[in-house]
Amino acid sequence: MLKVKNLKASIGEVEILKGIDLEIGDGELHAVMGPNGSGKSTLCHVLMGNTDYKNEGAVTLNGEDVLSIPQFDRSQKGIFQSFQYPVGLPGVTLREFIQSFLGDIDEAELIELSKRFNLDEFLDRDVNVDLSGGEKKRSELFQLSLMKPSLALLDEIDSGLDIDAIKSVATLINENRDENTSYILVTHYSRILKYLDVDKVHIVVNGKIVKSGSNELIEEVDSGGYTQYQEENWIKKKQE
Ligand code: ADP
Ligand code: MG
Repeated sequence: MLKVKNLKASIGEVEILKGIDLEIGDGELHAVMGPNGSGKSTLCHVLMGNTDYKNEGAVTLNGEDVLSIPQFDRSQKGIFQSFQYPVGLPGVTLREFIQSFLGDIDEAELIELSKRFNLDEFLDRDVNVDLSGGEKKRSELFQLSLMKPSLALLDEIDSGLDIDAIKSVATLINENRDENTSYILVTHYSRILKYLDVDKVHIVVNGKIVKSGSNELIEEVDSGGYTQYQEENWIKKKQE
């Protein structure tokens, strides 16, 4: 279980996250939606332990503080991040990368697992080098399935994908879900969420969660966009 209390993050004098509160139960999938620049990626980076940001607040995973420990230790405690723009690792094959965190794995088992992600032909290619958008995201999910994290941060796993690739990414997420992994799935668009069993939706605007709710928020975003959540528009609505 992830508990985030009044989490703030700043770069220099600029505050990007302005007090985020969030609780995600074991096995739950929470969607974080919001306009560009609202702080969604920053939330993922800060939970993963990116040291560019100065933090305040509290974050615990399964009762243990993770905010004060470095990135590597957070990863050891079971936090996994899939990047909005997965970085290529020239010179490191996917097989070597997997061995680096899993140790030796039975060849037949590895091939079988990679086939589920349609990645068997990628095992001896460099991680994320010359892969299509969809292939990179499948590769991230393959790594996730092997690492079995307690918390998976999926930042725009749907961005830049065509409709079939979105569906296939959603299917892979669904197949991989169990009570041991909680998910934060960041997206601008409702499309991928239609294929997923979403426990809760949070709307982030300007570094704050301005609304949380169930599935119906997805429809609300779809029909009204994000401007309805901006403060000046609430005031206007109240005056009308
Ligand atoms: P989102 O993912 O919701 O589109 P981000 O979290 O990437 O938004 O960014 C939120 C805001 O914080 C943006 O205005 C962005 O420019 C700023 N920001 C994020 N990270 C940094 C950084 N490392 N240095 C400077 N500004 C940053
Ligand atoms: Mg982002």
